[in-house]
Amino acid sequence: MKEECAVFGIHGSDQAALMTYLGLYSLQHRGQESSGIISSDGGRLYEHKAMGLVSKVFSKEKLDSLAGHMAIGHNRYSTTGMSHAVNIQPFLVDCKIGKIAVAHNGNLVNAVELRSEMEEKGSIFRSTMDSEVLLHLIARSRAGTVEEMVVEALRQVRGAFSLVFLLKDRIIAARDPHSFRPLSLGRDGDTWIVASESCAFDIISAEYVREIEPGEMLVIDGGEPRSIRFAEPAERLSRCIFEFIYFSRPDSRVFGENVDKIRRKLGRRLAEEAPAPADIVISVPDSSNTIALGFSEGSGLRYEFGLIRNHYVGRTFIQPRQDERDWDVRIKFNPVRGVLEGRSIVVVDDSIVRGSTMRKLVSMIRTAGAAQVHLRIGSPAITHSCYYGIDTPTRGELIASSHSVDEIREYLGVDSLHYLSREGLLSCVDDPENYCTACFCGDYPVKRKGQYSKDVFDEKTDGERDPGAKEKKC
Ligand code: AMP
Repeated sequence: MKEECAVFGIHGSDQAALMTYLGLYSLQHRGQESSGIISSDGGRLYEHKAMGLVSKVFSKEKLDSLAGHMAIGHNRYSTTGMSHAVNIQPFLVDCKIGKIAVAHNGNLVNAVELRSEMEEKGSIFRSTMDSEVLLHLIARSRAGTVEEMVVEALRQVRGAFSLVFLLKDRIIAARDPHSFRPLSLGRDGDTWIVASESCAFDIISAEYVREIEPGEMLVIDGGEPRSIRFAEPAERLSRCIFEFIYFSRPDSRVFGENVDKIRRKLGRRLAEEAPAPADIVISVPDSSNTIALGFSEGSGLRYEFGLIRNHYVGRTFIQPRQDERDWDVRIKFNPVRGVLEGRSIVVVDDSIVRGSTMRKLVSMIRTAGAAQVHLRIGSPAITHSCYYGIDTPTRGELIASSHSVDEIREYLGVDSLHYLSREGLLSCVDDPENYCTACFCGDYPVKRKGQYSKDVFDEKTDGERDPGAKEKKC
């Protein structure tokens, strides 16, 4: 598996690094392990990247050292390639066309295969990221121009990629033909910006223009961006529906839709499908706030703040090391006794992955005096791992892959449990046939070739960490 991340690129700004820093700040929710910016003044490239949050990685001095009118940036949390410093993006290499850097959101499903072939022929890799394979393909291309070389490379990789490249004199953005992960174009006068989510345009007062099209490559080197089709769009797109459920910010526009609007719809539909005999609705802040609001609208039950979140802690699940997850629920959440005591509560959450967070939360809510706890989940049960960029764990760790709804209800200790149906979920988007729902049903739109695990290049193994995973049709 690999990478939920944020990518950002800007061309034509006299404060390119600062704008990228602000963009990355607004995209922090997409990755909190490391952050990086590479800028160019048209001749030289400047780089700064480190482990940690955007606020920690960059200082005024660091930003001042990133000269130039164009820059790309990346926030990462690991999905392929462990969280080592060597894997921080953007990834910069020197090859026959000069320096080239890449920021990648997604997951190349044939990276193992391609890398093995190259290693067989003597190639040396510096990182354990699938994105490095792309740079090798570009460097090896015999095409006549830089753009043709990138096109040739893009045609060889399969899977999910929303990419931003930086060369000394241009930015190139590209999106896979299935459009798994979001990528949009924005502008502010003659300044052009590409970003994973539109909240990154808002922060720098740029306007949203459009999505990068499936199979489109955009060259930004002054003037209007030039659009090149490197591949036909897939017959059916595979936009990640989980972006609406959990990943994107509600104030963003992704896949051409307002996330807030879709998320409220999820909650309303959930209230229709699974009403609950309760006094109030609460969310698990912040990720399920908007779904809970929709549930409240749909059910007529009052929305209360029953859990308070400590905002100075990172996301739970996002920390890759298991031991860091055990104590975090308590650090992150505290119940409001006065709201919960003696009441029957509907808790709305966006998803259940392993079930460990919710189990602890339910116990906390009960200890605070709730009379009943009814759990409503704004997505179907997650039964399969994602191979296109959401960091879901291996199938064996997904509680719903091996337990019935009733078993999960018992494990979590709730009075009732309902998931949103897959039909209900799809009814909330305009063109349901163009979304990937593999994590809910195992219908993987782009098949994997080599055996694949999150740390595949670290482990140097062909061993399948996910023996239960089967690719099937819904
Ligand atoms: P758990 O069931 O304890 O593994 O965690 C479930 C919670 O993690 C959900 O309520 C989500 O808010 C959050 N979550 C779901 N998917 C992800 C993901 N890919 N990365 C980080 N957090 C996630």
